[in-house]
Amino acid sequence: MNWFSTYRVHHRVAGKFRKGRVFILGDAGHIHSPVGGQGMNTGIGDAVNLAWKLAAVLHGRANEAVLDSYETERRAFARQLVNTTDKAFHAIIGQNLTGRLVRTVLIPHVAPFLLGFSTVKKAAFNTVSQIRIHYRDSALSVGKAGKLQGGDRLPWVSGDGIDNFAPLISADWQIHIYGEATEEMRETAGKHNLALYEFKWNPACGKAGFLRNTLYLVRPDGHIGLADSRQDIPKLSNYLSSFGIGQK
Ligand SMILES: Cc1cc2nc3c(=O)[nH]c(=O)nc-3n(C[C@H](O)[C@H](O)[C@H](O)COP(=O)(O)OP(=O)(O)OC[C@H]3O[C@@H](n4cnc5c(N)ncnc54)[C@H](O)[C@@H]3O)c2cc1C
Repeated sequence: MNWFSTYRVHHRVAGKFRKGRVFILGDAGHIHSPVGGQGMNTGIGDAVNLAWKLAAVLHGRANEAVLDSYETERRAFARQLVNTTDKAFHAIIGQNLTGRLVRTVLIPHVAPFLLGFSTVKKAAFNTVSQIRIHYRDSALSVGKAGKLQGGDRLPWVSGDGIDNFAPLISADWQIHIYGEATEEMRETAGKHNLALYEFKWNPACGKAGFLRNTLYLVRPDGHIGLADSRQDIPKLSNYLSSFGIGQK
């Protein structure tokens, strides 16, 4: 060893992420060991989550109730992350037999073997890249349609002339229908100043988890706010008015 330094590893989550007009995010809200390389990514995730909510409220595109969901959504994830990195860290540094087996057998031999299986590789990728994050317990998450429900990250569908992530560049609320929207849905979207995207149905949409002709109201961060298989207008209107979405 040519060089080393010591530092203290904390595993802590702030009791609150918001008090009145003050919000905290990043390492100020959650710190943990660098195992897994998640700290910066989580802070950026906090920033994205808070930024679109503040922007929506300031621009009159949502009411202040939306801001309350920041702490619910991000603190829950921070607690889960700190808990898992704490466990992983202690498993790796442990001086007992388990710790030694993790360092000498699991990491160098078993992990590369398991990662040869595509399902394991996919699960690991989804976890480390944080695209598995969902906000199902948030007040902003309503409805369920097939495998997808309010709070889930919008699945990506591309090919056959579809790229459903392209409209997310607007970072604004939008309605996605995979199949065909009803005339009433088109009118409601226009009335609320919401972009409506109708994607031509193809088998890839079903494979990604979408149901045909179903309403998905998508948040500015690409998570589903409301899912409804019947394109129910009163349900949509009620959701929009609860959070003051799309008023301007
Ligand atoms: C060894 C190590 C490896 C890591 N590897 C990874 C990795 O691979 N992937 C990953 O995602 N994350 C990694 N992280 C975590 C990542 O570095 C942090 O999560 C991230 O830098 C936190 O960013 P932040 O902006 O929230 O906080 P900070 O980077 O701590 O920024 C806070 C800033 O505020 C300033 N400040 C503090 N008090 C005041 C004050 N009173 N007035 C004005 N300024 C103030 C500080 O000087 C600092 O510049 C690693 C961390 C360590 C220690």
